[in-house]
Amino acid sequence: MSLFRQTRPVAAVPIRRPRVVVIGAGFGGLAATRALDGADVDITLVDRRNHHVFQPLLYQVATAALSPADIAGPVRAIVCRQRNVQVILDAVCGIDRTARVVKLESGRDLPYDWLVLATGARHSYFGRDDWAVHAPGIKSIEDATAVRRKILLALERAETETDKVRRSALLTFVVIGGGPTGVELAGAIAELAHRSVSRDFRSITPHCSRVVLVHRGKRLLEPFPEALSASALRDLTKLGVEVRLDTAVTGVGCDHVMLGDETIAAHTAVWAAGVMASPAAKWLGHESDRSGRVAVDENFHPSGDARIFVIGDTASCNGANGRPLPGIAPVAKQQGAHVARAILAAETGAPPPSFRYRHYGNLATIGRSHAVIDFGRWQVEGLAAWLIWSMIHVFFLVGFRNRFSVGWGLLWNYLTYARHARLITGEIEPVPVNAAEPVVPPPAQLVPA
Ligand SMILES: Cc1cc2nc3c(=O)[nH]c(=O)nc-3n(C[C@H](O)[C@H](O)[C@H](O)COP(=O)(O)OP(=O)(O)OC[C@H]3O[C@@H](n4cnc5c(N)ncnc54)[C@H](O)[C@@H]3O)c2cc1C
Repeated sequence: MSLFRQTRPVAAVPIRRPRVVVIGAGFGGLAATRALDGADVDITLVDRRNHHVFQPLLYQVATAALSPADIAGPVRAIVCRQRNVQVILDAVCGIDRTARVVKLESGRDLPYDWLVLATGARHSYFGRDDWAVHAPGIKSIEDATAVRRKILLALERAETETDKVRRSALLTFVVIGGGPTGVELAGAIAELAHRSVSRDFRSITPHCSRVVLVHRGKRLLEPFPEALSASALRDLTKLGVEVRLDTAVTGVGCDHVMLGDETIAAHTAVWAAGVMASPAAKWLGHESDRSGRVAVDENFHPSGDARIFVIGDTASCNGANGRPLPGIAPVAKQQGAHVARAILAAETGAPPPSFRYRHYGNLATIGRSHAVIDFGRWQVEGLAAWLIWSMIHVFFLVGFRNRFSVGWGLLWNYLTYARHARLITGEIEPVPVNAAEPVVPPPAQLVPA
């Protein structure tokens, strides 16, 4: 007989940790993920790209000042030390709120206890999507390198173009939209076209190129105080940018931009005029505003679902002043950190934390040594603003290597106007010498008469 009392074996019940699914490894999604470091949860971070992009510096890639790897880093490497995260390269295509499952394009279903949607925004052409092919925007590394290719190819072709009209169209660059991205792009293109390349090309002098910035509003940088808008206008004009305010674009083609009755012959147009949220509202079967954003409550839940959070550029919510929160990185990051706190509070039965957005300021740079900064109570412009802008942007970059290479790149660019990333990648089609004289003669001419 056993000395020990026999007990019925108890089936071991595996204790499952709460599953947090974060969609999007942009500013919002990464902030949420990082704020859950060490927490007793299992996080699955899904992104359709394998890298996080520091979007505020995309215009530097588009104008060949920085390389893509300077402003982007692999998501896996960013979270590699965080043991409770698994990264999945896949794209979301639907959400079953009843079953609490995220549908991925690979066909996989991802169950969640908590879902954070931070899938950002894309360009909006206000119903004229046919313009996208001629006037690309910059939202991703691919976009920025496509714009870089367009600008550099136009310069290469202009070097040998003998027809004056075609050459002038090749050397005309139109930026559409006078917000921070448009202002930054126009200033950087002007410096590239007027200064940086002139010593490497034989027929392109600083005065050959024309850069036009078209803006529908009455002043540039509308969220900034009027004095800073005026300062940006002055700085751009000094850089040789032609600023067209109160002007709407009415057509865009492969070699022109139309402004009402006026046609500007230009081979390069870049779009910086509007954004549309990712289709998160569609995945959720939820209403959206005119920009496609999901309306959320003060804890970033879409109506009727306390298990889901929508943050960043995909969400629409008001700040403490009753005005909508802007689509900028600090909003996405603060919301990301907040939802992590909210998830932990809910898991421990604590009351939900309250959110208050802290706005640190608006920044925009104009060329390689000027910027405008609105800190609310005080404003800075010129070189001092540019130095602050550079420090802030370098500091917030993800990863030491990027910080170092971007800091060095900005300094070198400041000292020399150099653009070290002037690479045209991909197949390059030969261009006919002029329209009437193709490079490859038609077959009839190949046969001797
Ligand atoms: C050119 C440019 C310049 C900017 N400059 C500034 C600036 O100077 N200062 C500032 O504060 N803000 C700036 N912004 C805005 C800022 O970058 C955004 O507000 C911020 O990135 C929003 O963060 P987010 O997390 O909502 O989205 P994002 O950072 O855009 O991240 C969204 C992520 O979701 C992923 N994703 C999208 N769809 C899917 C899907 N279906 N499945 C899986 N993954 C998906 C994307 O790949 C991406 O990684 C700029 C934006 C641009 C485009």
